[in-house]
Amino acid sequence: MDMQTSLLDRLFDAGLLIETGVDGLYGRSGVFEDVISRFEGLISAYGGAEGAEMIRFPPGMNRAHFETSGYMKSFPQLAGTVHSFCGCELDHMNLLKCIDEGGDWTKTQEATDIALTPAACYPLYPTIAKRGPLPPEGGLYDLQSYCFRHEPSTDPDRQQMFRMREYVRIGTQEAVTEFRQTWMDRGVKMMESVGLDVEIDVANDPFFGRAGKMLANNQRDQNLKFELLIPVNSAAKPTACMSFNYHQDAFGAKWGLAFAGGETCHTACVGWGLERIALALFVRHGLDPKAWPANVRKTLWG
Ligand code: AMP
Ligand code: ZN
Repeated sequence: MDMQTSLLDRLFDAGLLIETGVDGLYGRSGVFEDVISRFEGLISAYGGAEGAEMIRFPPGMNRAHFETSGYMKSFPQLAGTVHSFCGCELDHMNLLKCIDEGGDWTKTQEATDIALTPAACYPLYPTIAKRGPLPPEGGLYDLQSYCFRHEPSTDPDRQQMFRMREYVRIGTQEAVTEFRQTWMDRGVKMMESVGLDVEIDVANDPFFGRAGKMLANNQRDQNLKFELLIPVNSAAKPTACMSFNYHQDAFGAKWGLAFAGGETCHTACVGWGLERIALALFVRHGLDPKAWPANVRKTLWG
């Protein structure tokens, strides 16, 4: 049995995660959810004073927006779309027969207008663009959503449906890069305040699609994506629990996010992988939060 399987088994045995029979798709216990909600409270304590507009999208997004985002160019293997039965009565009879016979009934499902949200900020950009020009100070948004990524795994820190909390800044290059730097500093502080060992690393992630591969290759050099790493499965290979992304004006140009004078906005987002952070806490401090160090408990529960 490897390390990952044993961590997942320990989480199942403790009842923190609940098995569904699908790798990366789990139920969560009340104790697990309480840790997530307390950690979200800590995020809000750090960021709440800045007056971000809170928006909660469901875990599915407009498929047309998903297509425009270019996600399929970069991560076709991770994407999920919602399909549904759209047939007539006869089709329904055939469907039931197919299920009865153990056949592949999903073949007749048709795509709906909904794609599963791959990152919490994806539905935001078209929403803000639709409102019209941004004011000179830009905008700041507080998001949280379940996200889907088709990457089945027995590592509990790689789930197919997990939550991402994000702050997104839309504005001038200066405002947006300052926002990202502020959150990199806060991210480290925040994790240290709950007793987690952190490390920040530069990462790459082709936000711009394979077509923009040159840009993606340059991403590391340009420091467009940083990740905050915390040990979960292994101390030697810590897990990305937060990411800090600066998209330059790529999303502004794609979605038509502009100031009244017509100048394209820059964007940046900071994201917390909430399940990963909860798991890092359980691994670091033990599976029973009541027995966590007093200072950590105080930070989270007050
Ligand atoms: P990314 O958009 O890939 O930078 O992801 C944002 C954050 O979501 C990461 O920093 C992780 O904390 C979290 N995350 C990404 N993929 C997964 C996954 N498969 N399971 C759990 N958390 C994830
Ligand atoms: Zn984002």
